[in-house]
Amino acid sequence: MREVPLKTGRIAPWRRGVQWLATLLVLGLPFIRPGGESLLRLDAGTRTLLFFGAKLRIEEFHLFLIVVLILVFAFLFVTMLFGRVWCGWLCPQTTLGDLADWIERRTRNLPAPLRAALRQSCFLTLSALVGANLVWYFIAPPEFFVRLTAGNLGAVAGISLAVTALVVYLDLAFVRRRFCKSVCPYGRIQLMTMERGTLTLEFDPELKGVCLRCGACVKACPTGIDIREGLQIECINCGRCLDACRDVFAKRGRGGLIHYTFGPVGADGSRPVNRKALLLGGVLLLLVGLLVFGVTTRQEATLKVQRAASGEVKRLPDGSLVNFYSAFLENRGSASRTFSLEAAPLPGYRVELVGPVRGLELAGNANRKIGFALKVSPAPAPGTQVELKLVSNGKVVAASPLPVAVQ
Ligand code: SF4
Ligand code: SF4
Repeated sequence: MREVPLKTGRIAPWRRGVQWLATLLVLGLPFIRPGGESLLRLDAGTRTLLFFGAKLRIEEFHLFLIVVLILVFAFLFVTMLFGRVWCGWLCPQTTLGDLADWIERRTRNLPAPLRAALRQSCFLTLSALVGANLVWYFIAPPEFFVRLTAGNLGAVAGISLAVTALVVYLDLAFVRRRFCKSVCPYGRIQLMTMERGTLTLEFDPELKGVCLRCGACVKACPTGIDIREGLQIECINCGRCLDACRDVFAKRGRGGLIHYTFGPVGADGSRPVNRKALLLGGVLLLLVGLLVFGVTTRQEATLKVQRAASGEVKRLPDGSLVNFYSAFLENRGSASRTFSLEAAPLPGYRVELVGPVRGLELAGNANRKIGFALKVSPAPAPGTQVELKLVSNGKVVAASPLPVAVQ
């Protein structure tokens, strides 16, 4: 039988630290507003995803898709490398469950009516905070509080907040870890993503004889499993059994029997390489590269043109031809800019734009419709096109062809 390694360090402080950090990040991210804009928020009004400094319009669907794929692949990558570490260390469901357990422990010795009142008010406050936190990812917190105090949060935001708060309250009061154990689909997905080198908790079978059968590991397990029977789907990699066992053996001056492992150690002392994770990591890097490329090379502004609804064409006494159009301009940058519309020269003709085509001020991320006319003299042949340019600071930022109708 192997000597029991002396591992006495506790996992709990690390896990709690990670949980605090993740919670503060999720709560605080909408409040971090460099340049007055949230780091991460989907602005429903302007249909824009604010993604760490980049503003992605819903029209830029390909970038949206890349962001979603990055999130999916990152999730799979972390799962393949670290198993259900998400569940035990990061998942809001686990953190809220831990918090609810803590509240129950702290109020255990209070008189029954006070205990119930305190617990319920804590659960309600937490639920309302989670509901508000969700809405902050759609409505910026300063605007949220102004609208909330004025009583005009809006039906969609109000219902989302209320439904989320209700679901979280029911979860805290009645469900908690039963959800992880029997409902959460992530545990099932994990089975598909597991590899030999994935991080798991292990009860070393070689040390079976050393086990005191005290049951401390089973008692500590939030999902009620016995890690000594091998890895089970319900295990959320929280490490509580590891701490419990180390506590038991620490009194005897020895290390615990349960440890984290990236797969079994081979005869040569090496561990299996997590090939699928390497592959996923590669795809993830590629997607991040694509997103960076897409964001840095995206158009600063867009220009779309269509003929005016009337389709009217005017021939003037001097022989020139006038067509009418509507131009749709969009400033995709975050700063306000001034634009102007210019027609490219057409050899042999005099082209002129008539209308409010100069000094077009557009706030960041704003769009505007402009009505204007194109005068060409003499009247050109059918099928002629004039190039319309959108110019800002002397630079052409977008262009669109203007088909010239002759009648
Ligand atoms: S077996 Fe251990 S790591 Fe897995 S859920 Fe139970 S206490 Fe957490
Ligand atoms: S806590 Fe350790 S010693 Fe106690 S039953 Fe579990 S594995 Fe055995």
